[in-house]
Amino acid sequence: MKPKTKLIHGGIPGDSHTGAVSIPIYQASTYKQEDIGVHKGYEYSRTGNPTRHALEELIKDLEEGERGFAFGSGMAAITAVMSLFNAGDHIILNDDVYGGTYRIATKVLSRLGIESTFVDTTDLDEADRAVRPNSKALFVETPTNPLLKVTDIAEAAKWAKSRNLLLIVDNTFSTPYWQTPIALGADIVLHSATKYIGGHSDVVAGLAVVNSGKLGEELHFIQNATGGVLGPHDSWLLIRGLKTLGLRMEAHERNARDVASFLSGHPAVHRIYYPGLASHPGHAVARRQARGFGGMISFDVGSAEKASDVLRKVNYFTLAESLGAVESLISVPAKMTHASIPRERREELGITDGLIRISVGIEDSEDLIEDLTKSLE
Ligand SMILES: *Cc1c(COP(=O)(O)O)cnc(C)c1O
Repeated sequence: MKPKTKLIHGGIPGDSHTGAVSIPIYQASTYKQEDIGVHKGYEYSRTGNPTRHALEELIKDLEEGERGFAFGSGMAAITAVMSLFNAGDHIILNDDVYGGTYRIATKVLSRLGIESTFVDTTDLDEADRAVRPNSKALFVETPTNPLLKVTDIAEAAKWAKSRNLLLIVDNTFSTPYWQTPIALGADIVLHSATKYIGGHSDVVAGLAVVNSGKLGEELHFIQNATGGVLGPHDSWLLIRGLKTLGLRMEAHERNARDVASFLSGHPAVHRIYYPGLASHPGHAVARRQARGFGGMISFDVGSAEKASDVLRKVNYFTLAESLGAVESLISVPAKMTHASIPRERREELGITDGLIRISVGIEDSEDLIEDLTKSLE
C-alpha cells in the first residue's frame, strides 16, 4: 500500500458490527461478559477500547511497527515509555529536545532515580562519550524543536545496537508520512499527536509504536497500569485527522519551501533554520532519511525587541504555542515553549531571544509571504 492509501485503508477500516464506514465512537467504560472472563476482547476501557484500538492499529501500520498505543497527551506517551526503565538506569537524549521532555527528565525522572545526559546527537561520538555502564536508551527528536537539527536515524540505530541501547525517536515534526524511524532501525517511535497528526488544533494526544511483541507487552502493561489513556472521542478525532495527513503534509511542505526561500533572502533575517534548504547542516541526512522536510521554520531577527515587533504585526500567523495545524502559528521559543530551559542553557544551544519559530499552515503561501514582508519592515 502506498502512503496515502494506507492513511485511509490501514488499521481497522470501518466497523465490522454495523458496516459504518467511519469507526464509531465507543463511548463506553465497561463491557458485558457472557460468563466470568468470557467477552468480545474488551473488559474495561483503560485496558482497551474499540475506538482507541482502531487508532492504535492505524498508527502501528503507518509507523511500520508491531504494536501501537494512544495516550492522553504526548507527555503521557513519553512518560509511559520512560516507565520502561528502572531506578539506576541512564538515558542519553539530544540536547535541544522539546522543553517538556527536558523538564520530565530533569525534574521528574531524576527524582525516581533515572539519570539523563543531553548531547548533540548529530555527532554520535558525543553520544558515545556519554555512555555509562547503566545506559539503557538513546532518545532523539529529529528534526529538533526549534533548531531543526537532524540526527541520522539509521546511524543512530546501528550505534545504539552496538552499545545495547534502545533507540527511541520522537517523530512529531516529520510524522509517519515523511519519516518512518522503525524502518530505519529505531525500537520505539513517539508522537505528540496534538500536532500534525490531529492537525486542527482541537485535540491533545500522544502515540507510541514499538517494533517488537516483547516491548508491546511491556508498554501495554504500563499503559494499563498507569492509565494515561486517550478517550474514545479524541481517538476518533485522530483517526479523522490521519485521513488527510498526506494532503496536509504536502501542502505544509509546499508553503514551507516558499516561505523559507523568501526568508533566506531577507535582510532582516540573520539566520534561518530549515532542513529543506541546501545550506542547512542536516540537509543531506534529512534528504536521505525522510520523504519531506516538514513545515517548521525558525529564524533569528537579532533581538527580543525585533522578535516582539514581528509577532505584533503578523495577521495570518497566530501567536500561540503548539504547531502542525492547518493554520499558521508563530512563537518565540525562548519565552514560550522553551521557557522551562534555563537561560544560559538556551543561549548555549542557540535558542536566542530573537529566534522566531513558525509553523507554516496550509493557507495560500502568497498571503503568508505578504504578511511576513509587512511584519519584517
Ligand atoms: C508538543 C510536543 C511534545 C509534547 O506533547 P503534548 O501533546 O503537548 O503533551 C513532545 N515532543 C514534541 C517534539 C512536541 O512538539
